[in-house]
Amino acid sequence: MIKRQIQDKWSAIPQRDSPIHKQNLVLPHNQWGTFDPFLVMAEDNMNKGAFDHHPHRGIETVTYMIDGVLRHKDNQGNEGELIKGDVQWMTAGKGILHIEEAQDEGFAHLLQLWVNLPAEHKMVEPRYQEILHAEAPLRKEKGAEIKVISGSSGGVTSHTKNYVPVTMVEITLQAAHTVVQDFPADFNGFIYVIAGAGIFGANKVTGKKNDVLWLTPSVDKPSEVELHATEPLLCVVIAGKPLREPVAAKGPFVMNTEEQIKQAFKDFREGRFGKWPQN
Ligand code: FE
Repeated sequence: MIKRQIQDKWSAIPQRDSPIHKQNLVLPHNQWGTFDPFLVMAEDNMNKGAFDHHPHRGIETVTYMIDGVLRHKDNQGNEGELIKGDVQWMTAGKGILHIEEAQDEGFAHLLQLWVNLPAEHKMVEPRYQEILHAEAPLRKEKGAEIKVISGSSGGVTSHTKNYVPVTMVEITLQAAHTVVQDFPADFNGFIYVIAGAGIFGANKVTGKKNDVLWLTPSVDKPSEVELHATEPLLCVVIAGKPLREPVAAKGPFVMNTEEQIKQAFKDFREGRFGKWPQN
């Protein structure tokens, strides 16, 4: 088992700071090659009105609730509320129209990750999976709870369906405890610290709340990363198999060529994404 090191560390980058929406970029735009198969990830803390209805094509959006309540509704007939610890894994595929917002008097504090879709699956039918906190597979180790959102952890496997293989776990680790997360061969990945602090990777890099710890690049053998909590730690570990395909991205659409992006805007303008969901 190859022991992964931390190659790079940065703090999530403040992007928006309005009275109703604070947004930090965990994975900033335009580093498609490095982050492959991931595109962007943001940490949002918002009230109602932060986002309007909007479309997506060519990606999956993965929403992980840190706290609060997120109301969502799409034009595929899905709607509901996500609470602390819940995850929504939405495949936009050929096109979806939706809204994601906090409730009237509430707030929503969340991570949203965009996972790229392989060229051959960019135009699949939209799909929606909910991985509820209370139902997700849980791996228990001494001083540690590892919730398996996608992929597997120490033999505990998630039922989440993937177009591109992704391991995503939430790790809750008591101070002075250590845990290891494993990855299949050929995965790129990172750790994001939601709360607390710890020491990460074979090169023992310190990390605290809002830090991103990017692992050394994909390797051709199974690998693992070690996490040690110096304070009670809550983090997510996310890794996936790179697609190694061209990326053309504009707004909510991510395709392989500029021509496909133009087509996405044309299809959207001409109503081929369907009708907006009604409030
Ligand atoms: Fe969206």
